[in-house]
Amino acid sequence: MTRWFTFAFLVFIDMAIRAQTLLSPAEFLTQDYGKDFIPYHLKVAYFEHVAAHSDLIKLHTYGYSVEKRPQIQAYVSSRENLDRIEEIRLNNLRRTGLIDGTPRDDGIAIIMLGYSVHGNEAAGSEAALSTLYKLVDPGNAKTKVWLKNTIVIIDLSLNPDGHARYVDWYTRTGGTIINIDEDSWEHQEPWPGGRTNHYYFDLNRDWAWQTQIETQARIKQYLQWMPHVHVDLHEMGVNSPYYFAPAAQPYHEYISTWQRDFQTAIGQNNARYFDKEGWLYFTKEVFDLLYPAYGDTYPTYSGAIGMTYEQGGSGSAGSAVLLDNGDTLTLQSRIDHHLTTSLSSIEMTSRHATELTKHFSEYYQVSRNKARGKYRTYIISQDNNREKIKSLIRLLDLNAIKYGTVTQEKEISGYDYSTGSTVTRAVVPGDLVISALQARSTLAQVLFDPEPKLVDSLTYDITS
Ligand SMILES: [Zn+2]
Repeated sequence: MTRWFTFAFLVFIDMAIRAQTLLSPAEFLTQDYGKDFIPYHLKVAYFEHVAAHSDLIKLHTYGYSVEKRPQIQAYVSSRENLDRIEEIRLNNLRRTGLIDGTPRDDGIAIIMLGYSVHGNEAAGSEAALSTLYKLVDPGNAKTKVWLKNTIVIIDLSLNPDGHARYVDWYTRTGGTIINIDEDSWEHQEPWPGGRTNHYYFDLNRDWAWQTQIETQARIKQYLQWMPHVHVDLHEMGVNSPYYFAPAAQPYHEYISTWQRDFQTAIGQNNARYFDKEGWLYFTKEVFDLLYPAYGDTYPTYSGAIGMTYEQGGSGSAGSAVLLDNGDTLTLQSRIDHHLTTSLSSIEMTSRHATELTKHFSEYYQVSRNKARGKYRTYIISQDNNREKIKSLIRLLDLNAIKYGTVTQEKEISGYDYSTGSTVTRAVVPGDLVISALQARSTLAQVLFDPEPKLVDSLTYDITS
């Protein structure tokens, strides 16, 4: 009886201590973190645990997926910054001109890390837990220095339903003993797989169009923050080494010199850590910067340094898989790689916070005062199908692109989309007008320009 009582008492003490202390993912979870995939609701529980035990984080639920899973972001920074986070956010929006007022030169940079938009590229969301812990861990002095001038926004999962679909399937399918043979069942994810959302939409083709509610909520949130750096963390085939910036050609011609240069600088910092560990990586070969609805290009056309990172893995990788070269790729190593590039990107954001905010401000001064392309105004005739105009206006609203209507009849000459030639014609009251001089002008120009310039016709996806 006494022994039982002592045991119960110790369990109680242990639970009481755990309830009061900030725990790492491995300490918090009953699963074997780094070997098992963590169900989405327990990932959320871990973020809530950290929020309850650290004053370096604020949690925000910005939407719900189709299957009603919360879409959450953690704002991580110093206590001083979190105390005035709303002021920092508004000050940054003033840089863009999306709200009125003169911005202060606060030198605080904002980086957003988005994990696993393709839900079965699961190592991203797994790495989000470690990334969060490294930032808030009181024993980690290095990250605390970064947080002094940086707001880190961690988006746990850009596609919670797809992620849950994969993790649930893998957990049911994998045995207690991992089979690294890629032909085994646990490496053969069945259709529809976890890549897409509830409606089997690829959310990483949806950033500009926003047909899905997950994207709509995310872009609304994005436009509230307008980060200076945005990283979109993916996975690809198991045999590929890690990919990070600089991206492959073609780049859209409106991407600024600063954006081109700084993605390379971040890539070089990533490479420094990978070289130290002897991890393989590549740059520049695939993943270009053109199509506007990706998680790298959409932020890029919003003035950020937008980048895709890709780890070898995805739905066929499981907890461990045998590679063509005879090595075994483990989930733990996939997490380690994404964690390393996440931290390296935060480090670079902090180290260059002043330059980032300065160039970001300049980018928006150009956007508001000078068209990046040869067209100054886009006009949509009211003679077009009314429903089509309505959905076009909806698209402009969702992307915070401003528009107006013609108030006075006038003869103008310019490029005509229907004939592909230069014409002179009258615009009449009621025609829709979109100016290329406004906060969101880069995206507007990318979407409306009739012919984007391609330096290389080998592009990964469709053009505007
Ligand atoms: Zn992907």
